This record gives sequence, structure tokens and C-alpha cells, in this order.
Amino acid sequence: MRLLLLTFLFFTNFCIAQDTTNQSKMKYYIEKVEKYLDREKALSSFYSISKEGIKMYASPKDKLNNKKEFLIRWNEIQIFNEFEFYECNRTRFDTYKLGVVSSGPGLCERYFKPKDTTKQLSDYKIAIDAGHTAGDITMGEIEKKDVKFKRDTTNGLNDSISFAEGMLTFATAKLLKEKLEAEGAQVFMTRTFNGGTAFGVTFDDWLKTSYKNAVDSLFKIGEINADKKEWFLNNKCTKRDKFRLIFKDIELQKRGEIINNYYPDFTIIIHYNVDETNTGWTKPSNKDFDMTFVGGAFMKNDLSTIDKRFEFLRLLISDDLEKSITLSSAVVTSFEKTLLVKTATINDAKYLRQSCFATNEKGVYCRNLQLTRFVHSALVYGETLYQDNINECKLLNKETDKTKNERVQQVAEAYYQGILNYISISSKTKSK
Ligand SMILES: [Zn+2]
Repeated sequence: MRLLLLTFLFFTNFCIAQDTTNQSKMKYYIEKVEKYLDREKALSSFYSISKEGIKMYASPKDKLNNKKEFLIRWNEIQIFNEFEFYECNRTRFDTYKLGVVSSGPGLCERYFKPKDTTKQLSDYKIAIDAGHTAGDITMGEIEKKDVKFKRDTTNGLNDSISFAEGMLTFATAKLLKEKLEAEGAQVFMTRTFNGGTAFGVTFDDWLKTSYKNAVDSLFKIGEINADKKEWFLNNKCTKRDKFRLIFKDIELQKRGEIINNYYPDFTIIIHYNVDETNTGWTKPSNKDFDMTFVGGAFMKNDLSTIDKRFEFLRLLISDDLEKSITLSSAVVTSFEKTLLVKTATINDAKYLRQSCFATNEKGVYCRNLQLTRFVHSALVYGETLYQDNINECKLLNKETDKTKNERVQQVAEAYYQGILNYISISSKTKSK
């Protein structure tokens, strides 16, 4: 009798303890959604957070009918977060599509990520994505990622200005890679040469070898109809149209895929910014700011497809977002210190106010971009300085080979110092 009572008390206490743990988990994830993920407070009909765990729904109607797309119980979160770190025959997205976390055959046996010890730079795998593709001004014009100003002494320009953002990002990535490798890190670049794309060739070569197939595939999956297909394949479709309407999205998708296949510890996405209010970009701006983006801030129509709902859940239950915020904060702090360019506050750009969440860290904003959503690691999406700023454009205009440009070298150094700080912060928190 006494044993029975003790057993009863044990189970009651166990259940109460379990309940309290689940309650605190529920509170944590509800707050995380509100703080980082649901920008317009419009997505609660796609998920539920309850004593059972977290459920995802394909539509608000499905939630009303209690027809879940995926359920993860509280005790399954750790396993789900960790089993994509080794090559398995099933990814987390495959599991998501199954609807539940199953421990049946097919689940990779070696799914646990080794426990982190205090890592040196030499223990890290780092992916670097140099934003855009242009390796020259002609391609920069097709991408519409070029800065071109005529000589105009009244505006302080004694020379004309012409460069493309892709040239700057590639040179920065290359310099940064050299610095990291010198310290022993393994580094992967999505673009391996100036003017290259994530497909390993230039846009021009991609047009020759893969454009037609890409149009065919889009037709086959129903993304475009027969009329559209014909238009894309006839002569009226310009190179700019081919870039903008076909190439851009699938190439960004490819960047995400090759980064995820590399399983990096973290990812550095490199961009240079412009002043959004300098419409037309025919003359320089006086503004100059740094900022960084991480994932999150989904808008009301951003959960329309299963892959987007999966990424929403992944950002919610993994610590990718938290780590990204720490990394981005270290990097943006280093931008300001090294480049002497101020960190943007939420009032410095309209898109920061309208489509982002400001995190607690200065200059770090959640923004639902294709890569901040799709890259499965800690990441920083860096937007250093305004290329169209009067002083910056003159500095960036120097040297044809941008790896020799001093301002670009400073930007690479700023990323590098930020990364070192991040690693030192992470190893301190781990050794506590
Ligand atoms: Zn950019």
C-alpha cells in the first residue's frame, strides 16, 4: 500500500514537473514567435503551441478542422534540430512532409552533432555568399545592381563613377576567405570567380547551356503557361527579362542549396547597400549606414507554401536565429568600428520600419529574405555602407581589380574581426 502511494506520489510529482517544463517551453516559443517571426500578427492560424507540442497547418481552414500538416512533441525538438547535421537519407524537410517525427527506419543513426568544445577558428566550416553576380558594369546594368554617376563637379564628382555591387561583394568574399583560411578555417564560396554564379558559370554561359531547360521545367511544374513559355523563348524577351524573371530566383535557391549541402557552422552573406531614397541613382547621396539581417519577420502571405512553413518552424524551434543574432551583432559592431560608418536605427530606412523586426541588438534586423529564410545555419546578411554615398562611391570606384581596392579591403577586415569576436563570444558562453 505504502509502495503504491509512493509510486502514485512520484508519478503525480513527475507529471506536475513535466507540466511546468512544458508550460515554460510554451511560453518561450509563443514569445519567440511574437518577437521575431510573426511580423504582422497574422500567422496564428498556421500554427498552434500547446501542451502537446507545436502543430503546423497548411491553411487557416485546416486549423479550424484540426487537420495538422506537422506535429512536433516537446520531447522531439532536440532530435529534430540535430539530425540534419550529417548526411542522412532523410532531411528535416522530408520529416516535415511526413507529418510527424518518426524514429522508424530511415532516420539517420548518426544524427547527433558532436558536442561543441571550445572551438578555434580552425574547427569551423564557414560558407560565404558574395551577393549578386556581376563581374563588370555591363552585367551590373542587367542586374540593376550598378552605381553609375557622370562627372559633375557641382556634386563633388571630379570623375565619373562606375562599378557593380557584384564586383565588390566577390572581392570582399575572396579577401575574407583568405583571412579565414590563413587561420585554418574551412571556407566554401557560392561564387568562385568574379562574374560567376552559383551554377559555376557566368550568366551568359548559363543562358547558352541552361536557360531553355529552366523555362521548360517551370512550364512542367505549372509555374508558367504555354503562352508565357513561348514568350520566354522568343526574341522579344530581353536579357534583363531572362535575368529578372527566370534566373534570379532559381539562382538564389541554388545558393541556399549548396550552402546547406556544405553543413557550415555559420554563413556570411555579403552585400553593399544603397540609399533607398536616392531614386534613380543619378547623383550621390549624403547618407551612409551599416546594418545586418537575420531570418524571421514573416509577413501575412509568407506561409503560402510547405517549404516556407517548414523554414518558419525551423527558425522557431532551432537556435539558428539566436546564433545569427549574436553573429550579426558582432559583425555590425565591427563594421561601425572598422569602417567608421554609423549603424542604422529603425528610423534610418523605410524597409526597416515596414518589413523588419528590430532585435535587441543594435543594427540587427529580422527580415524574411530568400537566403535568411533558407540557409540552415547561423548567418549574417551584411549590408555595409551606402555605395552611392558621395565619399564611398569615390573610394569604391578605385582599382579595376576590386581586391586591390582599399575600402573593399577594409570591409573584408571588418567581417573578419566581427567573426573573431563572435567565435570568442560563443566559446565563452559554451565554456560556462
Ligand atoms: Zn545587394
